[in-house]
Amino acid sequence: MSADLLPAAVEAPVGVAPALELRGIRAGYGRIEVLHGLDLVVPAGSLMALLGPNGAGKTTTLAVASGKVRPTSGCLHVGGRHVNGASPAALTRAGVCRIPEGRGIFPNLTVAENLKLVTYAADVSVAEVTAMTYDRFPKLGQRRTQVAGTMSGGEQQMLAMARALVTSPGLLLLDEISMGLAPLIVAELYELVAALAADGISVLLVEQFARTALAVADYAALMVGGRIVRVGQPADVAAFVDDVYLGGTT
Ligand code: ATP
Repeated sequence: MSADLLPAAVEAPVGVAPALELRGIRAGYGRIEVLHGLDLVVPAGSLMALLGPNGAGKTTTLAVASGKVRPTSGCLHVGGRHVNGASPAALTRAGVCRIPEGRGIFPNLTVAENLKLVTYAADVSVAEVTAMTYDRFPKLGQRRTQVAGTMSGGEQQMLAMARALVTSPGLLLLDEISMGLAPLIVAELYELVAALAADGISVLLVEQFARTALAVADYAALMVGGRIVRVGQPADVAAFVDDVYLGGTT
């Protein structure tokens, strides 16, 4: 990517390591290369939206950042540490958290039981986790005794985020949390995501509704064909979104 596509505003503030730094990443599946030298920097404490048409490689980028897909070349840094080749478990310990597809919640257990279970893997008390969760997600507090599988899609997504936050991640990777949800619920979810970023948790999110993501993000990156073609503040990137989604390249 040329220097003008990576404005200084998207580099990390001086003295603070970026939450995530991907440099020259090539990665794919077997012999099929999907990311062709990807450069992406998520500054610490910021919310970055990763946008692009179907098949651009957004999910693959998140898979590289979480260690699920290993790059064939390039550098991966998390919080300033070089973590090339690290396993998903090692990246989780480094503070990277990706909400699994299907949200990773236990549908037959209540909200409270779902939260309790996740404390076994993290060094926190049930009381601490429930207090923090119900403070951040009041709706989950109201539904603490409800079986998770009977909650609305938006509430289930909140529970998935709440479970992810138990490990106090430094970087949260979100892949299309709006999938199948009504616009009003999506707006509510994104307000919660913005609040997490305001609390200092860095967020990299992939979102099909570009306008929704641009409305809450600090930065946006536009991806086409396995490369970032634009990056900057949402207003700067917004102008190119329609072109890209309609089949252009910038
Ligand atoms: P979408 O918006 O449709 O989810 P995306 O930008 O997230 O797309 P990816 O899911 O990263 O794109 O897919 C990029 C390319 O990699 C696509 O051509 C896809 O078919 C291919 N791909 C993704 N996962 C696999 C896999 N497990 N095995 C082989 N090819 C894959």
